[in-house]
Amino acid sequence: MSGFKLGIVRLGRAAGKTKYALLDERDISLVDNYAFEAKVEVNKDGDGAKIFAFAYDVTKGRSTGQYLHELLWEKHSGGIAQGWKVIHRNGVTVDNRMENLVLLNDKCTIPSSEETPNKNREQSLYWIAVQQLQADPLEEHSIDPIYNRYYNCNGEILITEEDACVYYECHYPPCTNIEKDIREFSICGRCQEVRYCGTACQQRDWPVHKRYCRERRHLLYRERSPER
Ligand SMILES: [Zn+2]
Ligand SMILES: [Zn+2]
Repeated sequence: MSGFKLGIVRLGRAAGKTKYALLDERDISLVDNYAFEAKVEVNKDGDGAKIFAFAYDVTKGRSTGQYLHELLWEKHSGGIAQGWKVIHRNGVTVDNRMENLVLLNDKCTIPSSEETPNKNREQSLYWIAVQQLQADPLEEHSIDPIYNRYYNCNGEILITEEDACVYYECHYPPCTNIEKDIREFSICGRCQEVRYCGTACQQRDWPVHKRYCRERRHLLYRERSPER
């Protein structure tokens, strides 16, 4: 991989974790003019959610924003005609290297990421890149409840919702498994704040997570029910 460079942009918190987007090196200069966010798109059929990178020119405001994969496609490969969409080949919806993007007719579907064997997933550039990141310093101080933002078609924030109806993505940073049903993933029993798609991811995240995993206190509850 010599001479091969990538960019990682921090998108902020979404679906219970800090999200990042992967970019080609030549697109990193976008950060000079653009603000980036993670945008959770809940599937209309109630079958989980997807997280995309959303970007807008800071001088023009959020209402001019668009999905990063569409912005990059238009920048490098031209327009997106009606009835066509830009798809992430490997199913990782924040892996916005041009090599990972393809223009498809709206009616076509590609196999979803869950059909990608775990081994391939873990060898993907996205996985390797995110795995090498330092833990997000904000994560360690995060005491805010987890919020999801919903936007209207002008890009304005409609409602900010507490985590009651949030789909969680596996908290292990490189893992992009996301719940298909709310509360599908198991929660860290100690802090009851983070969720994992399985024990493998929980174990791999523990060396980092243990630094800010704090036991949830149930003192009041215990005082009132001494028989337990
Ligand atoms: Zn996972
Ligand atoms: Zn924990």
